[in-house]
Amino acid sequence: MIGSEHLIELTYLVASALFILSLKWLSSPVTARRGVRAGEIGMALAILGTLLHHGIVDYTAVAIALVLGTAIGIPLGFVHMTAVPQRTALSHAFGALCVTLVGTAEYYLHAPAVPKFTMGVLALEVILGSLTFTGSLMAAGKLQEILPQRPITYKGQNLVNFALLGLAIAIAAILVGNPGLSWLFPLIVILGLIFGVMLIIPIGGADMPTVISLLNSYAGLSAAAMGFVLNSKLLIIAGALDGASGLILSINMSKAMNRSFTNVLFGAFGQEQVKAAGSAEARTAKSASAEEAAALLSAASKVVIVPGYGMAVAQAQHKVRELYDALTRRGVEVVFAIHPVAGRMPGHMNVLLAEADIPYDRLIEMDEINGDFPQTDVALVIGANDVTNPAARNDPSSPIYGMPVLDVDKARTVMVVKRSMNPGFAGIDNPLYYLDQTLMLFGDAKAFTGAIIRELAGGEG
Ligand code: NDP
Repeated sequence: MIGSEHLIELTYLVASALFILSLKWLSSPVTARRGVRAGEIGMALAILGTLLHHGIVDYTAVAIALVLGTAIGIPLGFVHMTAVPQRTALSHAFGALCVTLVGTAEYYLHAPAVPKFTMGVLALEVILGSLTFTGSLMAAGKLQEILPQRPITYKGQNLVNFALLGLAIAIAAILVGNPGLSWLFPLIVILGLIFGVMLIIPIGGADMPTVISLLNSYAGLSAAAMGFVLNSKLLIIAGALDGASGLILSINMSKAMNRSFTNVLFGAFGQEQVKAAGSAEARTAKSASAEEAAALLSAASKVVIVPGYGMAVAQAQHKVRELYDALTRRGVEVVFAIHPVAGRMPGHMNVLLAEADIPYDRLIEMDEINGDFPQTDVALVIGANDVTNPAARNDPSSPIYGMPVLDVDKARTVMVVKRSMNPGFAGIDNPLYYLDQTLMLFGDAKAFTGAIIRELAGGEG
């Protein structure tokens, strides 16, 4: 018969395998749903295995924690897609708080008899956990606009920050040498908490999603450290997966925005953007009606639709699908151009378009589609702005110069659906709107796309 110890190990082994498969499957839209299910089942098994632990003497507190966690978790699952970055930051904050509390409890349970290696890992765990806790709360607050988005900088800021972290590490080193100095332990937690706040203060709103991904990585690493302390292979594997994937995602996001990591962390990007926003020249843009737009679209043989954050805000993806159907029925070739950082989180456009059942093979990545724009009759931009800004290519003084963009300005006609001439996330003017071949279609993405569809239907009848 299989003992409960073996059952726990088996549960953890299957959970670990499911986490690895989940990440693998999440890397393609075709298998992403399966990836989410695998992750969910893995997490349920991990919780089940933990509940079988002999160390649990009373299930009352565990039951209360489960009810509380579920009560907080369920509403978090229903937030609007555009709020996912701050929701993710909150999840990291909870995970990091848990890691810090477990680390603190472990220390006081065993001090002063804490072996050197365990003490070192424990210190790493609580430093990473506490800085991720306050850092993630700050990041969520900035993205939710509860806290000011603007980066706050002062002279010698990096020095102060490194000094704080250095002090925490020095105290940790003293504790490794003498784990009995228990009055020092709260100091590393407090320093970590302060460092988390100071780390996020100089970072602007535009860089926040990249930073959240980095905090995700820290949360993973702290969980892996906790795995060493608790001797849990599951935590080590899950933490390492989280740490590595968060880091890779941050690097990919930085690349897509043409920013270096150090620039994201210490560059105070948002401040430059505010200055640049004020430098918009007074030029005129041409606007067109839904009727004119429908006429141009139905006369085209190739249309590239460029979705962006505004499509997500307006929840226009189903209308966009109807437009795709209407144009395809007329024999127009329609594809979608996907920029890696369109929207507010990686894969944002893929998720929305998949929700509207647009075939995956119609979604073309930036590098592949850019060569097609000169042969495109109409580039229809729906709620995208920064990712279409030609200044990133042509204007060395632009704050987004060097960021890879979709070359929509090379299409024969460009039509842009947005509500006003307001800038996008980077807060800068878009010269695309003033080009001869550009027509502005002013309105809400869902309403305007609906109006074009009605015009097309009227033309058919
Ligand atoms: P932008 O934020 O540049 O522009 C979105 C545009 O949508 C706005 O100009 C706005 O104009 C318009 N809009 C908003 N609501 C509506 C609506 N209801 N109907 C129609 N239009 C609407 O979005 P992009 O997708 O082009 O670029 C993404 C930006 O986010 C980039 O700067 C990127 O670097 C940044 N970013 C993205 C991340 C990611 O992972 N995806 C992560 C970090 C940053 P108006 O108000 O006039 O309607």
